[in-house]
Amino acid sequence: MSAKRWREEARARLRDEVGTLRTESREAVALVYPSPYATGMSSLGFQHVYRTLHARGRCAERAFLPDDVAAFRASRAPLFTYESERPVGDFPVVALSVAFELELAGVVEVLSLSGLPPLAEARDARAPFVLAGGPLTFSNPLPLAPYADAILMGEADETVHQALDVIFGCATKDEAKRALAREIPSCFVPDVHGDAMPDVAKCPDALLPAYAAIRTPHTELRDMFLLEAERGCHRQCQYCVMRRSTNGGMRIVPMEKVLSLIPDDARRVGLVGAAVSDHPKIADIVETLADQGREVGLSSLRPDRLNDRFVAALKRAGYRTLTTASDGASQRLRDMMQRKARERHLENAAALARAHGMKRMKLYMMVGLPDERDEDVDELVAFASELSKQIPLSLGIAPFVAKRNTPLDGAPFAGIDVVKRRLARLRRGVRGRVELRATSARWAWVEYVLAQGGQAEGRAVKEAVEAGGGFRDWERAFAELPSERARRSLRIVA
Ligand code: SF4
Repeated sequence: MSAKRWREEARARLRDEVGTLRTESREAVALVYPSPYATGMSSLGFQHVYRTLHARGRCAERAFLPDDVAAFRASRAPLFTYESERPVGDFPVVALSVAFELELAGVVEVLSLSGLPPLAEARDARAPFVLAGGPLTFSNPLPLAPYADAILMGEADETVHQALDVIFGCATKDEAKRALAREIPSCFVPDVHGDAMPDVAKCPDALLPAYAAIRTPHTELRDMFLLEAERGCHRQCQYCVMRRSTNGGMRIVPMEKVLSLIPDDARRVGLVGAAVSDHPKIADIVETLADQGREVGLSSLRPDRLNDRFVAALKRAGYRTLTTASDGASQRLRDMMQRKARERHLENAAALARAHGMKRMKLYMMVGLPDERDEDVDELVAFASELSKQIPLSLGIAPFVAKRNTPLDGAPFAGIDVVKRRLARLRRGVRGRVELRATSARWAWVEYVLAQGGQAEGRAVKEAVEAGGGFRDWERAFAELPSERARRSLRIVA
């Protein structure tokens, strides 16, 4: 694909957007997402920062990891922003939002496609200031540190503007780094702090909720207006970074506020939040939106919150599949993780979904949890088989990856072979009765090494990407790491 075709594709997407923003300002920020357009535009955090930068009078233009990185590189075009087609490398500030560990490969790619050395130490004083943030900072952003000049930890609703005030107010990059470390307590400046990361920020409640600027048909959420109905979670699942110890738990956006922010012409509304179905007025909100003839999507549904009225409202708001999670294969494992979902909640959810004419139920689950045994998988086989008699059932399985800042931090990765064996056992057990989709055990291991890793593991990302980005490239890059932790991880693969 030629450089011209990439531009035409970006223009076509822009034409289909509702809500694109343009602000003239010398203080211009390239807002870059290290995954493709469809993923970036589904991120409420990315959209929220874009909207609020414009609201503060700054120019913010978006760029994304190209859908086909190799083809884009072959075109020799520099990565450019959608709004003005200006090269990302020409902006004074490049702001990156990183959601999870495997997007670090995208960070290396977008910087390199912008004509910038990915490693901060290799960029000179004239290169843009690279400011990073995003959900990854709630767990472990150390592997991101080699690529960023500064990282905003936690909720950046307020600190992103404070940081840009500092950066645009300083004459040099070094001056800006020192000032950021001094003036913003939650700003992690690797050159100043080394490995000692500051605490995550909690934004003032008055700044809630986050909501999107743009609706686009080119995402899975198709033309959906995204807004936050609550932030955080009051539950305490042992594997989760959003558990109640983070930033004081759940903060609720009043129903009236939620409804008042929805544009009249938004036919589809996405209500976002770590535990959005725990909002005390969630059934009322969904009912009201369904009464207005809108479709509604919720970012998560806890099975113990489902009742007849709520599920009826979801059906009227367009739900065809009831998606929920129980995460542990057996009650023993769910108890160990302090996960509240019990079999009776899931049975009730299936009965309600069927009674209200939904076509399918989808259940998210993890395998490879600490102390998991074959008997736990067998319990899931028996339970899923029973449930599938009520309603067609899909299981979405992800291998467990221990994250920093959780009680299960440091728990070992089960092993690629172990995860594959458990998946095979599960697949055999439910064959013909339950649809099963699982994410890759190999890539979960890569995610694990990065989730538990430090700056050395972060540098290995560049090696792996530049070697081709295949699984063997990651294995080789991690094998060269000096740390005992990395060697321990590699023994899991062998
Ligand atoms: S997994 Fe969900 S319910 Fe559990 S603490 Fe995290 S956000 Fe809350």
